[in-house]
Amino acid sequence: MPSAARTADHFADPRSRWLGEFVPIIGTNSPSSGGPKPAGAAASQTTTPKLTDAADPPCDHGPVDLDLLRSTLEDLGQPRFRFDQVWKWTSEGAKGYHEMSNLPAKLRDELTERVPFSTLTEVRRAEASDGTVKLLLNTHDGRPIETVLMRYKDPTSHPNRRGRRSICVSSQSGCPLTCTFCATGAMKFGRNLTAWEILDQALHLRRIDALDHCVFMGMGEPMMNLDNVLEVCRRLPAVGITHRRIGISTVGWVPGIDKLTESDVPVRLAWSLHSADPELRSDIMPVNDRYSLADVKAACDRFYEQRRKMIFVEYIMLGGVNDSVEQAQLLADLLEPWKYKINLIPYNPTDSVYDGSERDQMEAFRQVLEDNGFNATIRLIRGRDIDAACGQLAAKAAA
Ligand code: SF4
Repeated sequence: MPSAARTADHFADPRSRWLGEFVPIIGTNSPSSGGPKPAGAAASQTTTPKLTDAADPPCDHGPVDLDLLRSTLEDLGQPRFRFDQVWKWTSEGAKGYHEMSNLPAKLRDELTERVPFSTLTEVRRAEASDGTVKLLLNTHDGRPIETVLMRYKDPTSHPNRRGRRSICVSSQSGCPLTCTFCATGAMKFGRNLTAWEILDQALHLRRIDALDHCVFMGMGEPMMNLDNVLEVCRRLPAVGITHRRIGISTVGWVPGIDKLTESDVPVRLAWSLHSADPELRSDIMPVNDRYSLADVKAACDRFYEQRRKMIFVEYIMLGGVNDSVEQAQLLADLLEPWKYKINLIPYNPTDSVYDGSERDQMEAFRQVLEDNGFNATIRLIRGRDIDAACGQLAAKAAA
C-alpha cells in the first residue's frame, strides 16, 4: 500500500483515534543543553502565538474547591442536595453561581461571597486556526499551568456525531523530570497540583465546549501525583468524559504505574517511551536512570495482565536522534504488538536544539513497526500556530 494511502487509513481508523491524537505537539521553546545534538540540525522554526487576554467571557474567580463548597453549604444550614445542584451546574459548564437558577438568590450571593468559583485564574487564551484552544492559568499562589482543548472533525467515529472534544490537562506546575526535549522540563518545578486545580482545568474548558475525552499528558508527571489525578478521574464522568475515554500518560514512574494497576478507576495507560535504546533514553530522559526500560516494561505488563487493555506508547520523533530504522527495530523488539499500540509524534522544533523528523523518515520508522506486526500511527498535528506543545506558553510567559 502506498504510504500516503496507508496514512489516510490510519487516521480513518476509529481504534487509533481516541488517545493517539490527544496531545497537540510536544516540543520546546527553550534550548536545552543536556540532550544530544540532532544530526544536520536545521535553523529553528519560530511561530507567532495568537494570544488573547483571558477570561472571555469572564468567570467568577479564585478556588471550585468542592470541600470548601460542601462545608460552606453545611455552615449555611442548606440541605444536602444543594451540593449536588451546584456541582451539576458547574460540571455542565456554568460560568458562575449567578447562572444556577434553581438556587435561592440569597444563597447564590452567599456562595459568590464565600466560595470562589474556580481555583484558577485564566491569564492567557490562545486559539489556533484548527479550533485548538490553549489556556495559561495561574494557581492562587501564582504557579503557571497549561491546559488544551482539541476539536476534531470526525463525526462518523463518535457517537454524538459532532467530532471529538479532547482535553489535555496538567498534573504539576513545571516538572522535576527534566526531559531534554520538553519545555515544561526546562521550567523550574513548582509543585503538585491539587485535585481541584486539576479538575478546574477541565471545568474551564467545559465552559468553552462540551467535552468527551481527556488525557493527563500536559505539564508534569501524573504518576507522581496519582492520588489527586485519580480523584479527578472519578469526577470527570460528570463533566462528560467517561473512564474509558481517559488516558494517563507516564514517562515510566514505576510506583505510580503499579498503583494505577491496583486502583479501581478503569482508565487507559500511555507510556511516553521515546527511545528503546537505554543509553539514548537516559540522554534525553534522565528518569531512565532511575527506572530502567525493563522495569517500566514489567510494570506496564502488569497493568496489561490486570486490565487487559492495550497500552498506548508515545514516541516523539526527533530528527537524527531516535528516528532511525534501527531505533524502530529496537522498539519493535522491546514490545509485543498485541499489548502495545504505538503513536509516533511529530516534534515541534521551535527554538529547540532538536529538529523534527522528516515525513519520509517517520514513514520508514512506522513501516518497520508495521512489518513487525504493530498498529502504529503518526499523530495529527494540532495547534502548531499557538505553541500548543506542553509548557510552551508557560515558558514564554515566564521569560
Ligand atoms: S515530558 Fe513529561 S515527564 Fe518529561 S519533563 Fe516534560 S512534563 Fe516532565
